[in-house]
Amino acid sequence: MTKTLNAIVNARLAGKEGLHSLTINNGLFTEIQPQTSPVSATDHELDACENLVTSPFVEPHIHLDATLTAGEPRWNESGTLFEGIECWSERKALLSESDVTSRATQTLKLLAAHGVQYVRTHVDTTDPQLTALKAMVKVREQTANFIDLQIVAFPQEGIWSFPNGRELMEEAVRIGADVIGGIPHFEFTRDYGAESVRWLVELAHKNDLLVDVHCDEIDDPESRFLEVLAAEALRLDYGTRVTASHTCAMGSYNDAYCSRLFRLLKKSNIRFLSMPTESLHLQGRFDSYPKRRGITRVPELLDAGLKVAFGQDSIRDPWYPMGNGNMLRTLDVGLHACHMLGMNRIERCLELITDNGAAALNLKNYGIAPGQPARCAVLQGQNAYEVLLGQHPVLASVRDGNVLVQRAAVNPEADLLIT
Ligand SMILES: [Zn+2]
Repeated sequence: MTKTLNAIVNARLAGKEGLHSLTINNGLFTEIQPQTSPVSATDHELDACENLVTSPFVEPHIHLDATLTAGEPRWNESGTLFEGIECWSERKALLSESDVTSRATQTLKLLAAHGVQYVRTHVDTTDPQLTALKAMVKVREQTANFIDLQIVAFPQEGIWSFPNGRELMEEAVRIGADVIGGIPHFEFTRDYGAESVRWLVELAHKNDLLVDVHCDEIDDPESRFLEVLAAEALRLDYGTRVTASHTCAMGSYNDAYCSRLFRLLKKSNIRFLSMPTESLHLQGRFDSYPKRRGITRVPELLDAGLKVAFGQDSIRDPWYPMGNGNMLRTLDVGLHACHMLGMNRIERCLELITDNGAAALNLKNYGIAPGQPARCAVLQGQNAYEVLLGQHPVLASVRDGNVLVQRAAVNPEADLLIT
């Protein structure tokens, strides 16, 4: 039975001293009041037990049509992108609407259990039947009580380089995609790539949709489609609705080029998504030693005032055998890989899986404030540092005043038998 709340008490909030109580009415936060001391919670109150309460986590980049297929029909033993594509083409032949629906729903439940309430999924449109896309539109409806799901029409094998690529993207819009995707670095030629970016941004603009491009997901310093995407976003004044995912090549660009590029990026104000666990696993594969990380310039983008968020990309699919839905794991790996363990970075690190993800998804009504939907997560720890150290599953997830998830705190010393 759903538990409906009229307050959350004994909460710590980022950027605020001491404890607070958050009053809830009709599914909205109505008041946020400081407490002078801890109070005991009534039946319709949730006791945050002096832990940190944040906005729900955002998973901004995942492929729900492929999740939970690792090992089917075989394992990707080399771990490369290319063996992954081979495994996927064998598995893809077995796709059915019910297969996609059940794996996507199971993954969304896993994410919800970890405090995620907003998800953007890419769905492969290079399938003449658009089987997965049709299934995902239904999943979006069926899971709306616990997840806000955005669907990206994602042309895995290209728009210009796949038969009827453009028609399939347009059909995906008619079926109900929210976001237009692309994969310019995978198109057959550089011209195809640039043309595809210009075309897909126009398609989104014309239909009042968002844009999220798999952009330069390759260790090739010559892969420069990000500048095309940012220039198009700037030309149409559409930057806050445009996201560049991956931009791994930026990790290989020279500094002179980057200084020119960053001027455009700042003017365009587009959003960035980095998937550190996936990139560490898939990139750097053509390097001997030293090996590149294959990750975009996360701290530099943040310091330039741009919004960057982390995503998981995969949960147990042909490209990546790991993933448990816990965004804190992704955050931890990302901070390590990006040299971001300075305390000033750690103190603000949760923004990478909350506010910045919300900016990428262009979410309205996100954040803990009076008048906003009463949606939040109770994390185990009093501040971002403690939360990151523990990486424990969320203690609670609240959506529109209803408790979706609640679990007991983990005591890391409980099984310690030595003295
Ligand atoms: Zn992806």
